[in-house]
Amino acid sequence: MKLHEYQSKQLFARYGIPIPKGRVAATATEARQIAEEIGGRVVIKSQVLVGGRGKAGGIRLAKSPKEAEEVATQILAMEIKGLPVRKVLVDEAANIEQEIYLGITNDRAARRPVMMASSAGGVEIEDVARTAPEKIIKVHVDPLLGLRDFQARDVALGIDLPREHWKSFGVIACGLWKAYSENDATLAEINPLVITKEKRLVALDGKMLVDDNALFRHSDLVEMRDVDEEAAAETEARKYGLSYIKLDGQIGCMVNGAGLAMTSMDIVKLFGGEPANFLDIGGGAGADKVAAALRIILSDPNVKAILFNIFGGITRCDEVARGILSALAEVKPKIPMVVRLVGTNAEEGRQLLADAKMITAETLADAAQKAVAAAK
Ligand code: GDP
Ligand code: MN
Repeated sequence: MKLHEYQSKQLFARYGIPIPKGRVAATATEARQIAEEIGGRVVIKSQVLVGGRGKAGGIRLAKSPKEAEEVATQILAMEIKGLPVRKVLVDEAANIEQEIYLGITNDRAARRPVMMASSAGGVEIEDVARTAPEKIIKVHVDPLLGLRDFQARDVALGIDLPREHWKSFGVIACGLWKAYSENDATLAEINPLVITKEKRLVALDGKMLVDDNALFRHSDLVEMRDVDEEAAAETEARKYGLSYIKLDGQIGCMVNGAGLAMTSMDIVKLFGGEPANFLDIGGGAGADKVAAALRIILSDPNVKAILFNIFGGITRCDEVARGILSALAEVKPKIPMVVRLVGTNAEEGRQLLADAKMITAETLADAAQKAVAAAK
C-alpha cells in the first residue's frame, strides 16, 4: 500500500523528522485559506501516488494566497500519469540550498534493510544509480539492533554533509528507521531532504510503501488507504482476493499459485514474450473469480493473448474449466487464449476447453510458445 506525500510526512513528523508547515486541500478555496494561514510563499503539490510530479508540472510555487488559489485550480484539473489530482498539499515554501536523498528499503540479497543516501538528491534515485552509482552511500541495518548512531554518522560523512548538520541528520536518519520498521514499510524515502538557506534540514517530500501483509496490525494506516487513487485494476483485484500486478508486456497470465505464476512469466520471457501481468487466482477459484480475473486482464489494452496455466491439485481441472467457460460466456474476449491444464481430471477439463475453441497445450513450454506465437 502506498501512502500519499502528506500522509508520509505526517507520519515522519511523529518520529521527530522536521517537515514544512502545511496542510492538504481538496479545493482551490481551501488552498487559498491555508496559504493565508501560512503567510508568504507556498508550494502547491499534487497528491497522486506516482513519482516525478515535479517534472509533470504538478508542483508549483505561489507568491500570494490569490496565486495559490489560481495554481491550485490548475493543478486540481490535472491528470498525472493517468491519475486525476484530487488533493493538493499546500506547504510553506523552502529556500533550498542543497537537495539530499535519504531512503530505506529491503535489500533481499543481503537479507536486511539498507539505508541509502546521496548528495545528488531531488532526482530519482534510479537515475543516480545508473549515471553516478558512486554517489550512493549504503549501510545495512541489523533489524534487531536498529540503525545505530555511528551508522548515521557514516552516512553523513559519506555524503559530505557539513558537520553542523550531523546532529539533526542523526535524528532524521533514526526517525526514518523507526518509521520504516514500526510500520512494516517496504520503503521509506525522503527525496529531497533539503538544507535550507537558513541552515536547517527539512524533509520536503515523503514516500512510504507499507507491506500489505502487515496491514492487519496497522489499523491507523489502513484508514489512510486512498482507493480512488490506486490503479483501478489493482483495487478490483483486491476486492476478489486476487493478487494482480500490472506489467508492460502483451501476454496476459492467469495462473493458480504464486510460484507457478512466477514460473509462467519466466517461461514466457524465455520464449521471447513479455508478460502483461502477474496474477495468482489462488486455489479453488470459482467461475466468478476467474471472470473477474479475465475482466482485469482484458482491461489492459496491451494484452494480445492470454495464457492460462492451471495446476489442478485440490481444485479439480474440470471444475476450473467450467469456471473458465462461464467466465468466457460472460466476458467474451476477442483475443487468442492458450490453456495448459494438468492435474486431477485434466483430460476432462481439456476436452471441455477444446470444444470452446481455446488453444490447448500439454506442457508449460508448449503453452508459452503457443501464447507468444498467438500474440504476434
Ligand atoms: P516529486 O517530483 O514527485 O518527487 O516531488 P518533490 O516533492 O520531490 O518535488 C520536486 C522538486 O520540486 C524538488 O526536488 C524541489 O526541487 C522542488 N520543490 C519542492 N518543494 C519546494 C519548495 O518548497 N521550494 C522550492 N524552491 N522548491 C521546491
Ligand atoms: Mn521527490
